[in-house]
Amino acid sequence: MHCGFCLPVCPTYEVLSEENDSPRSRIYLMRALAEGRLENTDAYDLHVGRCLGCRACETACPAGVEYGSLLERARSRASDHGLPDRLLELGLKALTSRRLAPITWRFGRILRALGLDRLAGRLAPGRLGLAAGMLGATRPAFTSGSDLALRGGPSLPEVRRDLPGSPRVSTYALLEGCVMEGLYAHVHGSTRRTLSRRGHAEVDAPGQGCCGALHAHAGKLEAARALARANIEAFEHSGAELIVTDSAGCGAALKEYPAWFRDDADLRDRAERIAARVRDISELLVDSPVAGSVLGAATASERVDRNTASGDRRSLRVAYDAPCHLLHAQGIRDAPMQALSAAGFEVEPLPSWERCCGGAGIYNIQQPELSDQVLERKLREIREGGYDLVATGNPGCMMFLGSGLARAGMQVRIAHPVELVDLAEGNAGPGPEVSRSYEETS
Ligand code: SF4
Ligand code: SF4
Repeated sequence: MHCGFCLPVCPTYEVLSEENDSPRSRIYLMRALAEGRLENTDAYDLHVGRCLGCRACETACPAGVEYGSLLERARSRASDHGLPDRLLELGLKALTSRRLAPITWRFGRILRALGLDRLAGRLAPGRLGLAAGMLGATRPAFTSGSDLALRGGPSLPEVRRDLPGSPRVSTYALLEGCVMEGLYAHVHGSTRRTLSRRGHAEVDAPGQGCCGALHAHAGKLEAARALARANIEAFEHSGAELIVTDSAGCGAALKEYPAWFRDDADLRDRAERIAARVRDISELLVDSPVAGSVLGAATASERVDRNTASGDRRSLRVAYDAPCHLLHAQGIRDAPMQALSAAGFEVEPLPSWERCCGGAGIYNIQQPELSDQVLERKLREIREGGYDLVATGNPGCMMFLGSGLARAGMQVRIAHPVELVDLAEGNAGPGPEVSRSYEETS
């Protein structure tokens, strides 16, 4: 239609004010290449390469253009991926392969435990410093329920310790993934505990691995399909009724498996059956609340910042920022905020919550300057909003936003929504400030 409705929502168009960096022009370029009308691919590589893959244009498009799917195929045709091809392949292997990834993540955890990521984040130049800052951002936001209060911050919602057991709701297999398993095991822990409280029983899915999203976004579709095949088999054999993800990018990839196998009828059908069973953790937190209560709802007004001399009442200020692959790719808008509200948090969306942060998988390594320009608006809003914490449900967003906040010297934490819900439900050994039970306060 060429209507241009997608232009105002495109972060690269907003930052660069350049028609060639809009969705409409990228589609022109994709079409021209597919029809053999492009002799020189420099413009194609440049402008398609600058696309974040956030898919905000897809949500805005009245004609239903499936931009994400077009982009994955377009990237597989690009000759320049912003990094030398060998380096890109080696990097993807180091992050996702069964043999190398455990070594990479163990090394990352050691650096993180020794605090060397902070040193490298300050001293190392360019992409190395950015990678170190992103590693630092993977630390758990809380070590205990009283952590914030002890540090002079505002108090958390009251914690309920006496949650009743729920009847069994479903069996599920958790997509463990690569970076989530390597650096966000604490988020997986929160996912498992909150699901267990809601009556969901976990079953193993041996043989599962990386979802393939990083490869697909980098234009390595064959490698992505190989990973998808292994996951389809693993989840089929698990017999799980549901496949749960706590990473928006991975969930979106699992739901896109049928499109990855569009030319293979057997695998496409199997992928469709798998995709139909995929749920983001936020959907399950809302669909199957803890039996008998809405946590914290009656206690929100009781929150006291005991560290302010005046005794002013102030609750934790939580901003929500939507991962693009949850909002635009999976169409999940409100569930994370509903889950946080039900757990007793006062949460509000950032003004630009529907817009990409600039992280976009490995984009921030491929296009460091542009991703920082996209991030700038987000940091400004967090600073002006005076938030204590930003909640977002995707590892790439948590890492990139977290590193951006650290680089800007802002003392604002990043957490996955399920970590907060888990904390409000009593996971993390609350201190005396937040230990009263729901019954006592309701
Ligand atoms: S995916 Fe995002 S960055 Fe790419 S064209 Fe669409 S809105 Fe713009
Ligand atoms: S992609 Fe959709 S919104 Fe953008 S110009 Fe084309 S029809 Fe309009």
